[in-house]
Amino acid sequence: MSEPPGAPEREAVLRDPGFCRHSTGHTAVVDWDAATGWSQPHVEPWSDLAMDPATLGLHYGQAVFEGLKAFRAGDGSVHLFRAEDHGRRLARSAARLAMAEMPPELFVRACAQLVAADEAWVPGGYGQSLYLRPLLIATEPELGLRPSRRYRCVILAYPADPCFGAGFRPLAVTTATETVRAVRGGTGEAKCAGNYAAGLLTRTEAQAAGYDEVLWLDGLERSRIEELSTMNLFLVRRDGDRPRLTTPPCDGTIVRGLTRDSLLTLAADRGIAAAEEHTTIDAVRDGLRSGRLTEVFACGTAGVVVPVGRLGIDGEDLVVGDGEEGPMTAALRSSLLDVQHRRTPDSHGWLRTVVRADENGGRRA
Ligand SMILES: *Cc1c(COP(=O)(O)O)cnc(C)c1O
Repeated sequence: MSEPPGAPEREAVLRDPGFCRHSTGHTAVVDWDAATGWSQPHVEPWSDLAMDPATLGLHYGQAVFEGLKAFRAGDGSVHLFRAEDHGRRLARSAARLAMAEMPPELFVRACAQLVAADEAWVPGGYGQSLYLRPLLIATEPELGLRPSRRYRCVILAYPADPCFGAGFRPLAVTTATETVRAVRGGTGEAKCAGNYAAGLLTRTEAQAAGYDEVLWLDGLERSRIEELSTMNLFLVRRDGDRPRLTTPPCDGTIVRGLTRDSLLTLAADRGIAAAEEHTTIDAVRDGLRSGRLTEVFACGTAGVVVPVGRLGIDGEDLVVGDGEEGPMTAALRSSLLDVQHRRTPDSHGWLRTVVRADENGGRRA
């Protein structure tokens, strides 16, 4: 068990948080046992998880997680973004892996307790947040293959810049040619640990070849675009004079990103044409060559909205637009961050207040 960092150390971290370099030194913990059900959440100092080497979660991969953020508004108050939806998704991921499903209400309560305890760790800058990483893992020692009868949910907290940092450059992305991430009926929609392990080899090879990320294609024909290893993908096309936004549909092989869903909703609010539809990698290549596909961007809680500037397709490198961030990408990012920091009204009920302005010890954004 380590001592939570003190105030001077905290102030130094908050001046330049980076992405998840320093935890707050606390976790929230909720346990489930087949005999007693869910425990009440409690906040405790960061500590090792003691596990028997025969623990089910380690051998058979019953492990799922979430990533969500708490933001500070201009008046100093602190709000969780779409916490209930993250809780619902964690429960769906758990169900797919035959794990205990935490009620979303309990999930939100555990997250809120941790954010309230670590309120002083929530940075105030635009785009900055307290990033929460809830992990749910099977903790029963048992070597026979069956669902665990014990689980632990542990929630980690980190002050964070968006994960590509302040001076980020557009991503270079390449299609996966040898491997696939998911097939229908598999676990592609679950935020489960094994999906990331399965993609790491290809992602590491892509990075060695000078790319930041892999664009996964559908697992059967390898013709349709799906998503990146940790983010969903959007395309912007010129349709006459008007831009048109598309993103692959959630058919069971991609994670149902809440950032993706928020951007589709915000686009509709703003009268931007947007659709969930399949696009083949050939159509992407044609669109980039002809210039009709003007922007490509990725989105997720950690990175928010990130432009893709270069796309490798079968060994050919194509520049997206002029290789820099396009106007739709920038506009959607600001629309989302404006809601998250409560600069514009929360008309969809996405924010849950954890710390009110008069409770925050005088901190302002
Ligand atoms: C988490 C994740 C996303 C993005 O989901 P958000 O809810 O927007 O954070 C997209 N794809 C994968 C594979 C992910 O793990």
